[in-house]
Amino acid sequence: MKEFNIIEDFFKAKSIQRKDVIIGIGDDAAVTRIPQGQALVTTTDTLISGVHFLADTAPHAIAQKAMAVNLSDLAAMGAEPAWISLSLSLPEVDESWLESFSEGLREHAIYYSVQLIGGDTVQGPLVITITAQGFVPFEQALTRSQAKPGDSVYVTGTLGDAGLGLQIAQKKCVLDVQLNKDYLLNRLNYPTPRLLVGTSIRRIASACIDVSDGLVSDIKHILKASECGATIHVDKLPMSQALKESVSSTQAIDYALSAGDDYELLFTVSEEQKGHLETTLASANVHATYIGQLNGCVGKLELRQADKPYEYNLKGYEHF
Ligand code: ADP
Ligand code: MG
Repeated sequence: MKEFNIIEDFFKAKSIQRKDVIIGIGDDAAVTRIPQGQALVTTTDTLISGVHFLADTAPHAIAQKAMAVNLSDLAAMGAEPAWISLSLSLPEVDESWLESFSEGLREHAIYYSVQLIGGDTVQGPLVITITAQGFVPFEQALTRSQAKPGDSVYVTGTLGDAGLGLQIAQKKCVLDVQLNKDYLLNRLNYPTPRLLVGTSIRRIASACIDVSDGLVSDIKHILKASECGATIHVDKLPMSQALKESVSSTQAIDYALSAGDDYELLFTVSEEQKGHLETTLASANVHATYIGQLNGCVGKLELRQADKPYEYNLKGYEHF
């Protein structure tokens, strides 16, 4: 099978059609239309076999994760996704692999109304790079830099699940309860981008980031960019039943603090906007948990448990 046929059969034929795409797959470049009054938001993420996913991960999951991690970055900016392009490096042409991968991509494209508008296909180690683009109304993008001392810190969903999921996938941890095992593996392989939360908190949150490397690592980006410090109450960290039932409470807290790959949103809200946040989240039928407060001790993250300092020295995932 030639490069042209791979693109035709697995990507062009399966792509959805959005009205704002003038030229999609098939020409030298894609041509698209940006709505009036909106800014274009662009992000890229690469997934490397053996680094970002285990080599035996189902291709369907790899495709959906590659897309979800990019959409999660758009969510963190308060953007609504529109288009993706896909750069695919494949060791060989394995049609059943491509079938499952492209089906995973197509399902997400339909669900999120995102059109695949182009890409590149090359031979090499298994590497998937997706660039996602979306829109946010002018001057409403959520950033890392506008948080203020006194703001409250919130996080969506639950933390630590993907971290334990990875231990299970790597067979470093064995669980007896099949339901918990399935749930945690699913959280690792099929992260959910919190797009509805991101767009809902556009004019409410003072700062926002997605938790990809772990809470402790990622909150520090906000602290640095916004020149703040934070106190986080580890007893308030949202954790799933599956995580809590599977490991000790100390281990669960450590997963929630340091494990990456959850793709929840962490955001800050001023005192004046808290009421607005509550009504907005309730009307969108989404949930976020209050976990702590910002202060003026620039760059300092203080963890507390039952009003005592919490001893902690793990770090989030770092490549270098
Ligand atoms: P060129 O050599 O001009 O870059 P390619 O042969 O790489 O053209 O690509 C032809 C068309 O197919 C382009 O529109 C490109 O964006 C698209 N394309 C290539 N690979 C992919 C892919 N993996 N997914 C989606 N579109 C792709
Ligand atoms: Mg090319």
